[in-house]
Amino acid sequence: MQDKKKINGLQGTFKLHNGVEMPYLGLGTYQAENNQEVIDSVKDALEIGYRHIDTASIYKNEEGVGQGIKESQVTRKDIFLVTKVWNSDQGYESTLQSFEDSINRLQVDYLDLLLIHWPVKEKYKDTWRAMEYLYKQKKVRAIGVSNFLQHHLEDLMTTANIVPMVNQMEFHPYVVQQALLDFCNKNTIQYEAWSPFMQGKVFGLDICKELAEKYGKSVAQIILRWNLQKGVVTIPKSIHKDRIVSNADIFDFELSEKDMAYLDSLDRDERIGPHPDHFDF
Ligand code: NDP
Repeated sequence: MQDKKKINGLQGTFKLHNGVEMPYLGLGTYQAENNQEVIDSVKDALEIGYRHIDTASIYKNEEGVGQGIKESQVTRKDIFLVTKVWNSDQGYESTLQSFEDSINRLQVDYLDLLLIHWPVKEKYKDTWRAMEYLYKQKKVRAIGVSNFLQHHLEDLMTTANIVPMVNQMEFHPYVVQQALLDFCNKNTIQYEAWSPFMQGKVFGLDICKELAEKYGKSVAQIILRWNLQKGVVTIPKSIHKDRIVSNADIFDFELSEKDMAYLDSLDRDERIGPHPDHFDF
């Protein structure tokens, strides 16, 4: 459970094991179109006070994300920018190339965090070696993984020189994976939630509606507050300014331990995305 005193505002951070401060609330951009849509959502988020933007080469919107950053009034060093190496780019040389292509599209000269998007068998160890190289060259401030189960992490760590700083996983009331979260905490790997709203499905869950009513907040706010109180970084996606604003209005209330435990208990290992052992892309 995260020390609640540390969850004190939109620009608050969790510290990664290398000392880098990662803003615990960011903007997701999956399925945001690479045009004015993503430019505006990034600009709006930065203007509102978000300092963390999550994209990936496979989202095909890095140009728009970069443009949004450029058009914002926020300086590059104040933004925590994350992108990911896609599966077909994994391997040593192709990861280095993927990094170059991403920073060119984003119009930046370094990244705050680079993630391996999925654990592609036979490839992720070479991918990781390239990421360690980029880290040592100070081209990226932190390196991590996404969709890695415990066995993937254990396998990676047999050859890694650097323990991943982050593991970005599907995480919402129907997929909690507490054992994996505990394993990551124990190994100083910051856990991060993707699809915290189950891509919208969470808004239909009655229990979340009841909690929202009890606290006088929205379902979205309850879910995001639960993420942060569990010590999990979260990156809700929205292209609507009013939602981007309200998704950040989560610092004036606290979920009780009982309600936290209740949300945890909804876990039924039911994913909206593929299982990390059985993806075919
Ligand atoms: P989310 O769970 O964040 O849900 C996004 C959906 O919720 C959109 O339809 C959005 O609509 C809607 N929404 C957002 N805020 C509100 C609100 N306050 N009220 C009602 N509806 C709302 O889904 P994502 O899959 O986008 O996950 C978040 C981010 O995680 C991604 O954008 C991406 O950056 C990352 N991700 C990473 C993956 C990985 O494999 N590493 C996989 C999937 C996602 P609208 O935009 O119209 O407002």
